[in-house]
Amino acid sequence: MSSPVAQKVSLLGLDHEALVQWCAQLGEKRFRATQLYRWIHQRGVADFDAMSDLAKSLRAKLHEQAQVQALPVLTEQVSRDGTIKWLFDVGQGNAVEAVFIPERDRATLCVSSQAGCAIGCRFCSTGHQGFSRNLSSAEIIAQLWYAEHTLRRRFGREERIITNVVMMGMGEPLQNYGQLVPALRTMLDDNAYGLSRRRVTVSTSGIVPMMDRLSQSVPVALAVSLHAPDDALRDQLVPLNRKYPLAELMAACRRYLQYAPRDFITFEYCMLDGVNDSDAHARALVDLLSGAPDGGQDTGWCKLNLIPFNPFPDSGLKCSKPQRVQAFAQVLLEAGIVTTVRKTRGDDIDAACGQLAGEVQDRTHALVRMQRQRQPAAVQATAQAALETGPAKVPGPAQRLETNA
Ligand code: SF4
Repeated sequence: MSSPVAQKVSLLGLDHEALVQWCAQLGEKRFRATQLYRWIHQRGVADFDAMSDLAKSLRAKLHEQAQVQALPVLTEQVSRDGTIKWLFDVGQGNAVEAVFIPERDRATLCVSSQAGCAIGCRFCSTGHQGFSRNLSSAEIIAQLWYAEHTLRRRFGREERIITNVVMMGMGEPLQNYGQLVPALRTMLDDNAYGLSRRRVTVSTSGIVPMMDRLSQSVPVALAVSLHAPDDALRDQLVPLNRKYPLAELMAACRRYLQYAPRDFITFEYCMLDGVNDSDAHARALVDLLSGAPDGGQDTGWCKLNLIPFNPFPDSGLKCSKPQRVQAFAQVLLEAGIVTTVRKTRGDDIDAACGQLAGEVQDRTHALVRMQRQRQPAAVQATAQAALETGPAKVPGPAQRLETNA
């Protein structure tokens, strides 16, 4: 009976140090691992034969034992505003999305960390789908690897295109901590994507112990899904609040900043008509957010991002009226809290908050449906034409990202 074929190592999932260790097992020196890491992440090369400065003997070992595997792309949609949404097949009827948002002064990729999500926030369509599984670190970084190098080839550019990454796609990143951290390290590594710590954001619904761990290992920028100023309301909107109530969450935010000096925490607040959008809610929010981590009254340690709700079937919720959002923001601004109202991006392709992977609500038949939804050639050609204008030419004011989580 023949022995089972050994599973190849997925190199996209290894951060630099892990790759050094893996190469050492093959008898290869550290600098060889660095060369390999650069070929994969800086140059987007998956074919070991094309890695011309690696010894033939190493390439043979790589062929035998390793792979650089892209995620299959099910669909690509290009918005009028230049936003691009890719739907990736992660097997067994599951799909996850990554969204590219070009702006005048930056280009952000919103990345998924899980297929589905177990947190079940009331205003989030991903949360309504339930949880399927964690993504591996290779599947997380594969979204950035594909987007960065696909866009470079399309735009004919050699320099970096994606300047910011936000872990705000499908899933709660801190529930997939073990796979998240190597992916974050690769995002930050100068031999890979070289993004600065402040240009990589992890968004969490508030898993307090994991916030503390993140602050110790990779203190990237932090965003917290807040959505309510008191425990009674937050218990309903973000069920995780029953486990980590606001007092604990706010204390964890303040601790986080001790390890991410000169940073601020971004609080996300989804504006829900008649639910959390009154002046009284705004004043309660001021009370919650007032007071600096050092005990002073400085409010510069946080920013508030108001997100107009994107309705989806069966949510039973409505978006606050624009005048209400403005009045709410005014209360916070007058209290000295930096407050922005998020502008919608990619609304014609459902790339907005709470709409990620809306296609996969019924996971049982998701793959069949997604294959049916593959865009016809004419639409793809239009998308290609739009892409050729490049992200720098996409019109529109500098806008905040529209995402999930
Ligand atoms: S908002 Fe984020 S944490 Fe909450 S259900 Fe949606 S994906 Fe999960």
